[in-house]
Amino acid sequence: MNRVYNFSAGPATLPVEVLEQAAQEMVNYKGTGMSVMEMSHRSKAYEEIINNAEKTLREIMEIPDNYKVLFLQGGASLQFAMIPMNLMTKHKKALMLNTGAWSKKAISEAKKFGEVVVKASSEDKTFNYIPDVESLDLSEDADYVYITNNNTIYGTRFTTLPDTKGKPLVGDMSSNILSEKIDVSQYGIIFAGAQKNIGPAGVTVVIIREDLIGHADASVPTMLDYKTHVDNDSMFNTPPTYSIYIAGLVFEWIKKLGGVSAMEKINNEKANILYNYLDESKLFSGTAEKKDRSLMNIPFILPTEELNAQFIKEAAAKGFVTLKGHRSVGGMRASIYNAMPVEGVQKLVDFMKEFEAKNS
Ligand code: PMP
Repeated sequence: MNRVYNFSAGPATLPVEVLEQAAQEMVNYKGTGMSVMEMSHRSKAYEEIINNAEKTLREIMEIPDNYKVLFLQGGASLQFAMIPMNLMTKHKKALMLNTGAWSKKAISEAKKFGEVVVKASSEDKTFNYIPDVESLDLSEDADYVYITNNNTIYGTRFTTLPDTKGKPLVGDMSSNILSEKIDVSQYGIIFAGAQKNIGPAGVTVVIIREDLIGHADASVPTMLDYKTHVDNDSMFNTPPTYSIYIAGLVFEWIKKLGGVSAMEKINNEKANILYNYLDESKLFSGTAEKKDRSLMNIPFILPTEELNAQFIKEAAAKGFVTLKGHRSVGGMRASIYNAMPVEGVQKLVDFMKEFEAKNS
């Protein structure tokens, strides 16, 4: 089929079954005589697409009834502003944890709307760990507590949540949504850009507890008020129709495979294949602290810049592509989202073993 193993951090690999179904339905979607891209978002056929996407997401994430699901635009980055605009209403203050470049961006955006107290940071070690959440004192008054659940660049993830003392917890799950089972009721807001575990870029999923909706100041632009999108079922303006359609197919794909817990099992298997090898290798080393390692993004390095470059080049020639790490960490990063098959990770590790044998 000439498909490569694509380890891109995002936009990222999608399930081939989903791409094939979309290809089949591309020119004439279910007898409508048109593609989903050409369809009015107010049409019956499209209404069914967006409603089913929401329904399946609710099912696979077990989203409680007192949460709304929104399909928005502007990427996860717009949420960095929408969250403080909608939530910083009483204390005008947020407690935030700084675990990487995306947290930093969220922090600097939130500061435009109120006070931000950074309660913990792992910047001292290039964000290669998650600060100890159990020792955090989050008792001070604030409108919400903010974390980045999975840190795409550094390959770390939260495995325990901070005690927010009743304040809503906001979680950026852009790079780990649907990868492992989570309890939605522990959050006030969960948000995720689509282009890693959900579908194509262009849509951002926001899951928001009902009591947090409708408190934005009157000065907040209509498009940036969650209430606008809740009141209009994500159709206040034209939604990113095709991205939502593909997202719906991905949700169905997850459901068919056995849901999020089945994904989690496969993801653990994949991550273990790579981590076990990194732990035993004398040439490659992982960069994140063991206890905080991500299931989705695995950064690793070789002893020299020359070897890193050589590895990336040789890997690409064998069909393992987009393995270059983020410039702030260097080396390599394998993003192994839901759609990366076990076989892709196993073959990558086989290739790494060959590389190690040749270069040590
Ligand atoms: N948060 C995290 C954890 C991310 O990985 C990314 C994108 N890589 C973003 C936010 C920003 O997402 P977007 O490009 O959709 O604005």
